[in-house]
Amino acid sequence: MACIFCSIAEGKIPAKIFHDDEHIVGFYDIHPQAPVHALFIPRKHISTLNDLDENDAQLLARLFLAAKEFAQREGIAQSGYRLVMNCNSDGGQTVYHLHLHVLGGRWMKWPPG
Ligand code: AMP
Ligand code: ZN
Repeated sequence: MACIFCSIAEGKIPAKIFHDDEHIVGFYDIHPQAPVHALFIPRKHISTLNDLDENDAQLLARLFLAAKEFAQREGIAQSGYRLVMNCNSDGGQTVYHLHLHVLGGRWMKWPPG
């Protein structure tokens, strides 16, 4: 079955994309859980955190740097935000293409549900 996030990265299905470069794509989550809720994905298909290896280290750093810059642009850097990567069933992962959630614009509970 085709991967929905690969399809978004390839422009085959629509999304509110605000970041698009050689390595990563950023778009707004279709079911926002906070006033600001975006996702960053690598163009390369990696299913879960468990599938990362040493060669992906720079890619992971790019996701975090893009998230940081996005938070600054959205005006939530000072108020704060949360980065989340869910892994497999207990982690609450529903889309099996690695993605970094950026959530902000409201106070985030801890611990998460
Ligand atoms: P996770 O539960 O961590 O795997 O997160 C998957 C996220 O992808 C959820 O927050 C969904 O709302 C979001 N999502 C699923 N399909 C789409 C889509 N077509 N466009 C944007 N976000 C999506
Ligand atoms: Zn994929």
